Amino acid sequence: RGTEEKEERRAAVALTEPDCLFCKIVAGEVPANIVREGERTLAFRDINPQAPTHVLIIPKEHHPDAAAAGRAGQGLLDEIAREAQAVAEADGVAESGYRLVFNTGPGAGQTVFHLHGHVLGGRGLEWPPG
Ligand code: 5GP
Repeated sequence: RGTEEKEERRAAVALTEPDCLFCKIVAGEVPANIVREGERTLAFRDINPQAPTHVLIIPKEHHPDAAAAGRAGQGLLDEIAREAQAVAEADGVAESGYRLVFNTGPGAGQTVFHLHGHVLGGRGLEWPPG
C-alpha cells in the first residue's frame, strides 16, 4: 500500500500507538494473513501457530490488554467473542470446540501489549493449559 493510504488507515483509528506491532498490522505497515475484518476488529493468523487454527482477534484501537478494554466499556470483548465464533465456524472447528484465550500480563505469557484473543482449535486441547 502507498504511504498515503497507510496514513489514512492510521487516522481512521482513534487510539493508535506508533511503536505497537499490532497497530502497524491494522495500518497495513506490517503484513499479516488477515482472515476477517470488521468495523472495529481485525482477525489474522498467528505467525507461530500452536494449533491447526490459531487466529488472533484484535480491536483496531489500541488497548493494552483485556482489562483495559473492559474498562473502556465499548463492548470490544463481546465483539471479539462473536468474531472468534465466526472464525471458528469458517475454519470448521466450531463444532469440535475451540479455545478463546486472553493472556493478560507478562506472567501469563503476554508478549504483545495490544489486546488480542487467541482462537485455538483443530486439535485436542488439554486442561489445565501450560
Ligand atoms: P501473547 O504471547 O502476547 O499472548 O501473543 C502474541 C502472539 O503474537 C504470539 O502467539 C505470536 O506468535 C504472535 N505474533 C508475534 N509477532 C507477530 C507478527 O508479526 N505477526 C503475527 N501474525 N503474529 C505475531
